[in-house]
Amino acid sequence: MDDRALKELELLPVARLYGMQSLAAPTPAPTPAVADAPSPSVAAPRAARLIADASLEQLRVIASDCRLCGLCRARKQAVFGVGSESGPWMFIGEGPGADEDEQGDPFVGQAGKLLDSMLAAIGCQRGRDTYIANVVKCRPPGNRTPTAEEAAACAPYLDRQIELVAPKLIVALGKSAAMRLLGTDASLASLRGRVHRYRDTPVIVTYHPAYLLRSLPEKSKAWEDLLFARKTLQMPVS
Ligand code: URA
Repeated sequence: MDDRALKELELLPVARLYGMQSLAAPTPAPTPAVADAPSPSVAAPRAARLIADASLEQLRVIASDCRLCGLCRARKQAVFGVGSESGPWMFIGEGPGADEDEQGDPFVGQAGKLLDSMLAAIGCQRGRDTYIANVVKCRPPGNRTPTAEEAAACAPYLDRQIELVAPKLIVALGKSAAMRLLGTDASLASLRGRVHRYRDTPVIVTYHPAYLLRSLPEKSKAWEDLLFARKTLQMPVS
């Protein structure tokens, strides 16, 4: 990726910081006009190439400055991911809410407290054996569901996170995560109780903790899903 492309993405300082492009030829080129959120059709392929080579640390820095979709306009900060960078568990939610936008880590609000109890119930703990991330890294205004375009713009980040963490099992929390990972619009209920695949990694689908806070009777189903996930993780790889 050349300096001009990086500059268009506002990633040049980041790339320099991490030695991700030639420092031998610093560009004197004038700063191109950069819109608040550049057209994804122009910027996304370039960003995807940069992201595809990044380490987790580099990715976090790149995401902090990302303008690939309109969510960058209202965010306080990008919420990248947290936890064990070698899995074996990875939990994927939808997108940051107000608390996450404020604090910079995923699932730190009420839904996060429930997620932590769910993890504890299967003997997991964020930071120890679990990595937590979201489909989109920036808060959708009013906590609305991210659009398909926003999820697509953010896809290279999540794809690379999964590649680097290389979890043994992914738990998709809610419909947005299931749609993003499995490329299906099927109902959440119909996706539960089966082992799906994201590339080669097994994926179990369960309810989003925020939904469980509103629909307490479904908690027992989520509990079943987590037991199923634990059993799947313990199964020998065939
Ligand atoms: N809901 C999500 O999907 N992710 C968070 O980080 C917080 C709430």
